[in-house]
Amino acid sequence: MTLLLNADLHCHSVVSDGTLTPEELAARAHANGVQLWALTDHDEIGGQHRAATAAQALGMDYLTGVEISVTFADTTVHIVGLGFDAHDAQLAQGLAATRGGRGERAQEIARQLAQVGIMGAYEGALRYVGNPELISRTHFARHLVDAGVCRDTPEVFRRFLTEGHPGYVEHRWASLRDAVRWIREAGGAAVIAHPGRYRFTPTEEYALFSEFKQHGGEGVEVVTGSHMPSEYPIYAAMAQEFGLAASRGSDFHSPHESHTDLGQLPGLPDQLTPVWELLQGRILRAPASSAPT
Ligand code: AMP
Ligand code: MN
Ligand code: MN
Ligand code: MN
Repeated sequence: MTLLLNADLHCHSVVSDGTLTPEELAARAHANGVQLWALTDHDEIGGQHRAATAAQALGMDYLTGVEISVTFADTTVHIVGLGFDAHDAQLAQGLAATRGGRGERAQEIARQLAQVGIMGAYEGALRYVGNPELISRTHFARHLVDAGVCRDTPEVFRRFLTEGHPGYVEHRWASLRDAVRWIREAGGAAVIAHPGRYRFTPTEEYALFSEFKQHGGEGVEVVTGSHMPSEYPIYAAMAQEFGLAASRGSDFHSPHESHTDLGQLPGLPDQLTPVWELLQGRILRAPASSAPT
């Protein structure tokens, strides 16, 4: 496990459910030694220009990024897109459609919470939202912690907002086929985010990987802040079995909530192809003047 390049290709800003601005994240990534960075907000690329500009001003290479919410086998799966053209119209439309149902869903989440005596959760969550089109469960979780209902966000997701608990609303996101197509046709590479997080049976997980591959998906996150270290070798083997490149990313959301900071994970296992090797032509290079001499 050698760290040839400190790449961190998964994190969130205030444009989705993170608490730092794109500029603050760029500075934090750079301070932590990240050399190649991507901001991957949920279903939204509105922060890409700011992130790329801030990265390059610091002498850090940049790949465009997004994390698309997908429904596969009745489960929410996340697909990361890297190195796409941020001006692609089809990708922008697809993401806008994916964001579309979030407002209604949030109202329904609040109605359910009201039924268990938690009043005003919609208005409470809205106070944490940076982008009105992107109200997420994370914003409800922050509100429930600050309102004293739960001690921390993991407790919120154990007691609320998840299947079988108050505040869980089933939702249809994008299809796997569409998400991979939008990313590919915009010139990027699609990556399965944190596969260890989904509670799939082995058959369902195999189906996800095979269909993803058939649609033209190219990578899988192996070393991520959303995996336990014991899961790295499992998904390294899956990457090899399916001929997928591997990605690395902290999934950093907030200095107060995230246990994995930007740029601090171990490197990818040696035998894997890093996804950035497939994306050499898509990297926005920092100006030569700021590179070390
Ligand atoms: P949404 O897209 O609105 O369904 O919100 C999903 C977000 O909630 C994820 O991206 C995470 O940031 C957060 N989340 C989901 N499950 C958990 C969990 N068990 N613990 C902490 N955060 C979670
Ligand atoms: Mn999130
Ligand atoms: Mn995710
Ligand atoms: Mn994420």
